[in-house]
Amino acid sequence: MTRKLLEIAADIVEAQASVGQMTADQIELALLKTFGALQKMQKAEEEGVLLDQAKALEEPSVKEKAPEKMEAKDSIQEDKIICMECGAEMRQLTTKHLGSHDLDPREYKKKWGFSLKQPLSAKSLTRARSSAAKKRGLPEALVRFQQERKLKKSQSSSEEPASGEEGAGDKRTRTIRRPKNKKE
Ligand SMILES: [Zn+2]
Repeated sequence: MTRKLLEIAADIVEAQASVGQMTADQIELALLKTFGALQKMQKAEEEGVLLDQAKALEEPSVKEKAPEKMEAKDSIQEDKIICMECGAEMRQLTTKHLGSHDLDPREYKKKWGFSLKQPLSAKSLTRARSSAAKKRGLPEALVRFQQERKLKKSQSSSEEPASGEEGAGDKRTRTIRRPKNKKE
């Protein structure tokens, strides 16, 4: 069968070559291309489909997406939080509101699988709060750092004079004096 295909390809290329002027390389290339194309066509024929149809079958024409239930993590959005109990939208899920569902924030988080650290407020609100907290905390940490550095400096500078040159100088003068005394 392959031989038959090759013969067909050769016929096609021969026909092309007879019409235009083709170099040996061009003929070889045309032969390979034609043979490859024939092979594909034959394969498609054996599988009972045309090439175009085969391609079309790979891509599903209609993508149907089943309507999903909202996941807990999706309830906390940029500018709002949605109550998983009643679907109410608000900036912050208050203890008072949760109380209307007989839940406190801790129970609510447990029930819907939130981390206990998860703030029950819109992301933008949580962010605003945490950056405000950081701004408050920064000077404090900076002052503490500066104080610690000062303390370290004063400790190391007070240690140096203790083992300084004064003591060593005394010893030297003493050892020098002794031999002088012997001679005199
Ligand atoms: Zn609610």
